[in-house]
Amino acid sequence: MFNNKELFKTAFKEQLVSRLGKSIEEATADDIYKILGMLIREYIGREWAETNQMYKTRQEKQVYYFSMEFLIGRLLGNNLLNLGMLETVRDGLLDLGWNLEGIEEQEPDAGLGNGGLGRLAACFLDSLASLGYAGHGCGIRYKYGLFEQKIIDGQQVELPDDWLQKSNVWEERRADKKVEVRFWGQVEVREEDGRTIFNTINYEKVWAVPYDVPVIGYGDLHVNTLRLWSAESAIEPAKMRMEGQNSYYKFLDYNRSVESISEFLYPDDSGYEGKLLRLKQQYFLCSAGLQSVLRTFDKQGLRYSDLPNKIAVHINDTHPTLVIPELMRILIDEKGFGWDEAWDVTTRTVSYTNHTLLSEALEKWPVNMMRELLPRVYMIIEEINKRFCGMLLERFPARQDLVSEVAIIESDQVKMAHLAIVGSYSVNGVAQLHTDLLKSNVMKPFYDLFPERFNNKTNGITHRRWLMHANPELSHLISESIGTGWITHPYQLLDLERLKHDSSFRDKIMSIKRNNKLRLAAYIEQKQGITVDPDSIFDVQVKRLHAYKRQLMNILHVMHLYNEIKDHPSADRVPRTFIFGAKAAPGYYLAKSIIKLINVVADVVNKDPQVNDKLKVLFLENYSVSLAEKIIPAANVSEQISTAGKEASGTGNMKFMMNGALTIGTLDGANVEMHEMLGDENMFLFGLRSEEVLNYYRYGGYLARDMYNQDPRIKRVMDQLVSPGPFCCHEREFGLIYQSVLDHNDEFFVLRDFGSYADTQAIIDQTYLDQQAWASKSIVNIAHAGHFSSDCTINRYASDIWHIHPVQSSLHV
Ligand SMILES: *Cc1c(COP(=O)(O)O)cnc(C)c1O
Repeated sequence: MFNNKELFKTAFKEQLVSRLGKSIEEATADDIYKILGMLIREYIGREWAETNQMYKTRQEKQVYYFSMEFLIGRLLGNNLLNLGMLETVRDGLLDLGWNLEGIEEQEPDAGLGNGGLGRLAACFLDSLASLGYAGHGCGIRYKYGLFEQKIIDGQQVELPDDWLQKSNVWEERRADKKVEVRFWGQVEVREEDGRTIFNTINYEKVWAVPYDVPVIGYGDLHVNTLRLWSAESAIEPAKMRMEGQNSYYKFLDYNRSVESISEFLYPDDSGYEGKLLRLKQQYFLCSAGLQSVLRTFDKQGLRYSDLPNKIAVHINDTHPTLVIPELMRILIDEKGFGWDEAWDVTTRTVSYTNHTLLSEALEKWPVNMMRELLPRVYMIIEEINKRFCGMLLERFPARQDLVSEVAIIESDQVKMAHLAIVGSYSVNGVAQLHTDLLKSNVMKPFYDLFPERFNNKTNGITHRRWLMHANPELSHLISESIGTGWITHPYQLLDLERLKHDSSFRDKIMSIKRNNKLRLAAYIEQKQGITVDPDSIFDVQVKRLHAYKRQLMNILHVMHLYNEIKDHPSADRVPRTFIFGAKAAPGYYLAKSIIKLINVVADVVNKDPQVNDKLKVLFLENYSVSLAEKIIPAANVSEQISTAGKEASGTGNMKFMMNGALTIGTLDGANVEMHEMLGDENMFLFGLRSEEVLNYYRYGGYLARDMYNQDPRIKRVMDQLVSPGPFCCHEREFGLIYQSVLDHNDEFFVLRDFGSYADTQAIIDQTYLDQQAWASKSIVNIAHAGHFSSDCTINRYASDIWHIHPVQSSLHV
């Protein structure tokens, strides 16, 4: 049906009539989207069941990737692509008078994540399925995704992201597979037949109901599962009637508290209630996910000592760390294991990815909160801690300092990263530099204790979404030039490198980039009514707004360029369009002022006729996966300018590289590995190195004031933040920014790196003047981007951590 246009059109029109009672003339774009979704769901239904059946009968080892975030974005286009149906459907719809790109816009973005970490989880699912691994996602079906961002008067305003308002065509509710999750209560301990029995009473019961989303692999039909859990009330109305009078209001309270568990991603945790809710969410995910994993395992009738050979549980950062004590609880309390056996099984089943070097971002929970909410789980954590500290004191009797440094429970806090390292067999960082810094600094004592657990797995991105789907024109050119092998073997993109000398290929690369820029320009015109010059350099920084990512340095530099143009209005300049996109956490005031500053500068620059043919600044609201897919293929310059040693890996950097943008960046995260492959000629490095940053933190010696006093460019832009002039000001609205840099001594070295950043930007202008040379660098970037395909990353996780192999589907042998 999907590989023959005429058959597709017939089937499509039939479905439209039978399901919605409409003819093609009456159908709306939303109808077309829904019917397409249903057709795909129906088409893959059999293969989905067969993939599961195959795993079962062959007793394949299964990987479960636990993550609080899955930033999957839209699925229609990618599913069609992976099924090999994109062209047929696009052509068929065109015959019926519809444009597929417009239909794709009907789909709400599944924004079940914040940024990089959640997008990584989504890329991994795509690679697992496409490579034929038995790997599934386990997450929460948040009723509201990450907030929708509106910019009003230059300021971020958050609106609820009601992505499920229209029914979700991809999910399948599986009420028959619901499991019970328990909170609160008291633990009773008693002896029975020489065994200690732990029984929790007076607990509150919540249903976890799974919604399954098919994860369709590329090529051979292989369909894995993303299982998202939703919390539902577990009180039966009949029982309520018997409890009389007040029970109705109690029921409403209970109901409200249950619903809140799967309502929002990262609820505000500035107060106690919010923190408690986050802890509830984490346990909800861990308990529901593990129960369902073990139920599948139970059906195989194997012994539990075999669990680590049949199941790998991977935790994406520390949010799902409670799988460790939860697995211990199930093994001990429900399966009759002794402590040592349970510990052996658990620590051979769980593996952990660390995502941050910022010590303030390492998760901690108050002991009291955890003990009350999860009494039995807390007991187990206490026991894990007691045994771990006891082992240490035995090995290092004089090292009480070491024990307090690495203890899991310390100063009435449960330290999740410590629990995750102690309770797992593998700990990985997400770029070489990040892993090295974990070993040498942040987690050094743990590395000294368990060196064999630590390993690096540099992040990756799926080239199917980020190149084939986002940039079809470039993908076609690549396939025309080097064949289609790169699609399944992304390293073959290296074959492009020899074409960097081919001037007609260079022209094609630049002309595709220009087409993408035209498309983005049309989007900007339509959204903001601002015309941008497609021949200007499109310089893009899109990512979460965070002080360490230094959007501030970027916008201060734009202010500096504005000043230069005003000073020398007739000087020749290479026109530039600076594009920003970023959401700030709702309670992160400094980040929000930086958004405001970008918007104020944009307004001034874009309206100034002396400046606006040389410089434009855009803030595109509501940065999300689908917006990223529009922006990234149009970028000439990729801004990866974090303070060295702060960005764990970055994945945005890889998406830009794959689409032929040149990077201006610090030696941070995966930029380091990009630089190793590209060399100085194909990337623009600047700024402090991570050792230099570390030395400043350790030994001092940096004064932001000195920078301000020494460099007139810096003094001028800093003063413009707080004194009357083009960008300021009512009531020192940028005072917070000014203070963070000058009064709090610029924690992220914005001023320290400003000079070297500005000089490097000037080099970029000069380089861009030679379009052929630029094209050649762009080609080298694309050629080396295969290394960062998540296919390569997942193959490394599979062989080094999970010990699994691709499953050859019986459907296709
Ligand atoms: C890739 C991606 C990110 C991560 O970007 P970084 O530059 O690595 O921080 C964040 N948000 C979205 C929507 C993405 O697609």
